Amino acid sequence: MGFSVGALRGGQQRRGIVDHRLARRMLVNQVRLGRISRTEVCDAHPELIRAARNVGTETTADCPVCEEDKLRIVTYVFGHRLPASGKCVSTKKELRQLAAQAQGELTAYVVEACPGCRWHHLLRVLPLAG
Ligand SMILES: [Zn+2]
Repeated sequence: MGFSVGALRGGQQRRGIVDHRLARRMLVNQVRLGRISRTEVCDAHPELIRAARNVGTETTADCPVCEEDKLRIVTYVFGHRLPASGKCVSTKKELRQLAAQAQGELTAYVVEACPGCRWHHLLRVLPLAG
């Protein structure tokens, strides 16, 4: 299974600046209450975990599920003339360059992932101006 935007979970994936914090909090609560099993939410695509490990930005926040690893933030950009698997962007500079060169609409997906237990959640979806 190739990596694609469909592998990113968290609330509705529509255009515009969407905040997924509420959906995340509800999901984490459901896991803590045992209503959703960890295996259901700790199912990050191997590509996402690899990106999180290698180029992800380490945060100071503990993973809400395993509480053993620090969360990492990964940004993927999808859109016109980019690979179907998206482009993983690790710095703000890279993101700016991509936005400046864009011919057509691009969308950035900011995802948090835990390399330890494979928890992942889409945090934000941002349109990038061309
Ligand atoms: Zn974890």
